[in-house]
Amino acid sequence: MSNSKEENQRWRIESRLAQIGSQEEPVTGAVSFPIYQSTAFRHPKLGQSTGFDYARTKSPTRKVLEDAIAELESGDAGFACSSGMAALQTIFALFSQGDHLIVSLDLYGGTYRLLERIMSRFGVTATYVDTNNLDELEANIKPNTKAILIETPTNPLMMITDLELVCSWAKKKGILSIVDNTLLTPFFQRPIELGADIVIHSATKYLGGHNDVLAGLIVTKGKELSEQMAFLHNSIGAVLNPQDSWLLMRGMKTLAIRMERHQANALAVASFLKSHPQVEAVYYPALPDHPGHDIQNKQSSGNSGIFSFKLKDARYVEPILRHIKLIAFAESLGGVESLMTYPAVQTHADIPEEIRRRIGVDDKLLRYSVGIEHVDDLIADLSRAIDLARQEIEENQPLTLG
Ligand SMILES: *Cc1c(COP(=O)(O)O)cnc(C)c1O
Repeated sequence: MSNSKEENQRWRIESRLAQIGSQEEPVTGAVSFPIYQSTAFRHPKLGQSTGFDYARTKSPTRKVLEDAIAELESGDAGFACSSGMAALQTIFALFSQGDHLIVSLDLYGGTYRLLERIMSRFGVTATYVDTNNLDELEANIKPNTKAILIETPTNPLMMITDLELVCSWAKKKGILSIVDNTLLTPFFQRPIELGADIVIHSATKYLGGHNDVLAGLIVTKGKELSEQMAFLHNSIGAVLNPQDSWLLMRGMKTLAIRMERHQANALAVASFLKSHPQVEAVYYPALPDHPGHDIQNKQSSGNSGIFSFKLKDARYVEPILRHIKLIAFAESLGGVESLMTYPAVQTHADIPEEIRRRIGVDDKLLRYSVGIEHVDDLIADLSRAIDLARQEIEENQPLTLG
């Protein structure tokens, strides 16, 4: 017998994560929930259903994942999609021609592209603001504004939005609050508990955690919104397949210990860089001088392994990326392996240069997704790469004649 929702909620989140799907299979008692590959399900007789009819609508392995994420995020329903972008597109299908959205300024590049290149063709417009600034929100809300989409922390600049404050503002205005919780996961932050209506995840990142599954998750609060989302999820059909649903659950079982290690490693590496002579600034909310530090501590129980840092000299970027050995130069985040990316030319290339510069994503900025490797190796790798970069730059310096 599977456990009731009430029983599950007695357990701490570490226990609930480790047990995802482990108590759900009544026939054999399989501890690892099976992969049900079937797309069709027999009806017992006319007018009856086992609860499963056709796999786009509902599929057993996917359902265990969907119930788990809904429960972890304190929502009412979960929906697994084929990618984070598929999840965002499914959410955006709530809106109609003429609707307007308020969106975090320092936004994931793919979300910006979806809004500006695709949703705009369907008459859905967006304004990009600092979502932690109530004056800016008041100045940009319109009669046709239907929702606010918040990333907190943003990436790469790690700007923090006070979710309780902004979600209660949105509620007063009668608009939906949508929070992209990819960077913190429900282990560290649960936006619905702070007033959000919808949570979205690129589960490709920390939830999957191993750079081997592409997936997106949506969690909704409230009966009406959950029914609407179920309709869109089934109608659009960008659903997650059974194999990847299983792989994602397998990853999520170790989320708690991974996040704790990501956080500890990131804090140590960020502190190392903060006192490094070649580094101009480090953007990490766990550091006490970060402008969002207090809000982050109030609304989240920890920090992700993502931070960015700005070099004093843009000439360091290329040789650093060439000399890192343990840390890979690659374009994702949230996996056990350390990855470093150059936002201005990679993840944020779709954001116009003018907006990029306004928010500070310039050619001196590197983003680091700190993995779970030994922290001393990570610091040594980075320290060595910066030293080699300095040597190269100094050797190429034209000799100044005295
Ligand atoms: C990666 C990412 C997405 C997009 O998710 P995919 O799984 O790559 O489609 C959306 N939001 C954030 C914050 C992301 O990091």
